Amino acid sequence: MPELRRDPVTGQSVVIAESRSQRPGAFEAVHDDLAVEDCPFCEGSEHLTPGEVAALRYDGTEVDAPGWQVRVVPNKYPATSLGGDASSHVDASSSAGSDWFVAEPAIGSHEVIIESPRHIRSVSELGVAELADAFRMYAGRLAHHRRSGRARYAMVFKNVGSGAGASMPHTHSQLITLPSVPAPVARELRGSLEFYANNGRCVYCELIDRERGDCARVVAESKWYVAICPFASRFPYEVWLLPRNHASSYETSTSCQSGAAASLTHRVLRGVERLLGRPDYNYVIHTAPFDTETLDHYHWRLELIPRLSKIAGFELGAGVYINPVAPETAARQLREVLEPE
Ligand code: AMP
Ligand code: ZN
Ligand code: ZN
Repeated sequence: MPELRRDPVTGQSVVIAESRSQRPGAFEAVHDDLAVEDCPFCEGSEHLTPGEVAALRYDGTEVDAPGWQVRVVPNKYPATSLGGDASSHVDASSSAGSDWFVAEPAIGSHEVIIESPRHIRSVSELGVAELADAFRMYAGRLAHHRRSGRARYAMVFKNVGSGAGASMPHTHSQLITLPSVPAPVARELRGSLEFYANNGRCVYCELIDRERGDCARVVAESKWYVAICPFASRFPYEVWLLPRNHASSYETSTSCQSGAAASLTHRVLRGVERLLGRPDYNYVIHTAPFDTETLDHYHWRLELIPRLSKIAGFELGAGVYINPVAPETAARQLREVLEPE
């Protein structure tokens, strides 16, 4: 059973999940050369994954058989698990004889969302309608976990390429549910609540107005969404996609809105890949915790982070990122290569 351990001084959470070291090539670079016949995420290899928990399928096709467009399966090597005794606290240092080193079972679900039956690397290789289906599935899975009432938080994220932490070359995202709100989101919730208390307005709505007013860091926008390179971008060509109208939870997006989020993400990603030569990348959805109703002070977003360089000593030690490309430069260059809508 994976454990959720907290640093006794800082409270920093860490999941200790030894079963993940059994993943094929756990400490190796991504298997870009993985043969299609060995790929567990390809259509026709459904027997190589745990049974699907959700799928978008053609009518008349059977569960765990070919005929799907998007397929969601439990991660075979999960970082969180539902199989534990929630009340058990593991004293990882019995010799200390105290409650100092307390770990709790990392209770949660860990799912793999396979966005295509085809053996492709990046979702930019999908049609916009296909990526829209995947984005609707993200919303559906988040809504499912919110309804289940078993988790406080869920994060949807994507790793593409070994530089972004991927071990599998076939396009996929993941969803991990957690019993607590992860620290970066908790910090955003605190900061946005403080702004709301002082100004009576969502800080992200304010940010969007200011960025759209100035345009220097705006990459693209559509009816529902805006894509910007954030003012304090940690990474070169980091892009945030935010809904233009206030919304705190991604899973409350209508089907039309999820489709529009996919469409702008697709456009921006193709621009990033054209400009930078198909780099490894991550995207991550920051959304409100499950145990809150609609929040007036918080605003969901998708962060797209091309991984052009590795996180190095200063970032690890000081938590301060050194970004060699100003977000204003990045936004201008991206605007220049973006395909028309
Ligand atoms: P990544 O490491 O980001 O590429 O994500 C791929 C995920 O797929 C990893 O977390 C693996 O644990 C998981 N995985 C690998 N093989 C399988 C499989 N056969 N069925 C389900 N999940 C798998
Ligand atoms: Zn494949
Ligand atoms: Zn807002």
